[in-house]
Amino acid sequence: MARQWRGLLHEYADRLNITSATPIITLGEGGTPLIPAPALSERTGAKVYVKFEGMNPTGSFKDRGMTMAISKAVEAGAKAVICASTGNTSASAAAYAAYAGITAAVLVPEGKISMGKLSQAVAHNAQILQLQGNFDDCLDIARDLAENYPVHLVNSVNNDRIEGQKTAAYEIVEVLGRAPDFHFIPVGNAGNYTAYHRGYREEITRGATHVLPRMFGFQAAGSAPLVNGAPVLKPETLATAIRIGKPASWDLAIAAKEDSNGYFGAITDEGILAAQRILSADVGVFVEPASAISVAGLLERAEAGAIPKGSVCVLTVTGHGLKDPQYALKRPDGTEVSPEVVAVNTAEIASVLGLAKVK
Ligand SMILES: *Cc1c(COP(=O)(O)O)cnc(C)c1O
Repeated sequence: MARQWRGLLHEYADRLNITSATPIITLGEGGTPLIPAPALSERTGAKVYVKFEGMNPTGSFKDRGMTMAISKAVEAGAKAVICASTGNTSASAAAYAAYAGITAAVLVPEGKISMGKLSQAVAHNAQILQLQGNFDDCLDIARDLAENYPVHLVNSVNNDRIEGQKTAAYEIVEVLGRAPDFHFIPVGNAGNYTAYHRGYREEITRGATHVLPRMFGFQAAGSAPLVNGAPVLKPETLATAIRIGKPASWDLAIAAKEDSNGYFGAITDEGILAAQRILSADVGVFVEPASAISVAGLLERAEAGAIPKGSVCVLTVTGHGLKDPQYALKRPDGTEVSPEVVAVNTAEIASVLGLAKVK
């Protein structure tokens, strides 16, 4: 029998807090490809790999944390879970709750989540409420509800989420045979930044690598509290997945940055879209805008001379491009892309394509 990837709670059972009493709620998440990106290596002089987390069951890395969080919630007897979300957490919580046969309630900022993500939460039958506030308000309310009502919180303030997410670092070390020199990653609540650092630290303790990657995290310029050193009251960016002004894992992220000699940088929305285009057109990987900030961050840091030639760089790209396809359909000047209309005529089409006849 061919063996298929069994999801990370089975694959890493010995390294996660699960027992025979834990029901394993899995959709086969994890085991995502680490894709060499020669086009980015050429631009930067580094050895660049892309960890494509859009390949998870609901199209983002959130599934790694959610398999763990929902399994532990069900083990604890939860009948309902709640989360605040910029979109992907709600899509993931809804899918895993559906599999587990429990209720998912999600709070999203009104009008600020992409159509793809909203459609997933609806499809998986979540109870969805649009809050007249931003993500940070949603998280405050979700915490309040979980504290005082019978619902289990599955945001990344729940350590089970971070525990599931750290497995991405295990996979990278397994594939490369070592940890990278630099790890580039988008930062919203900074849960994932924290999770990778934890995973790499564990790999060192286990003796699987000697390298602790420098953790380079990037935020959108209009939503960059960790770069500014202070919360942002009205975060703004088209990269809705990282439109967060008050990161929940602030202290853990600062500790991870200090331990790894890391860095936090800010990228403009234009820079994010340019990087998204480079990744899709030159590497063949289509990601949502928030994810492209890893690429923008690498290009910016390489340009600044901060990345020695030959360094091994891993970029986490967090979510699939189909989540939020509208930006790919716009040119940099804002006009809509609309493919040329042609008649049913081979010669004419060949001429439009610039093809010369060979026989
Ligand atoms: C959630 C999310 C992020 C931010 O992750 P944090 O752990 O909140 O820092 C980045 N990109 C995408 C696509 C996300 O869904």
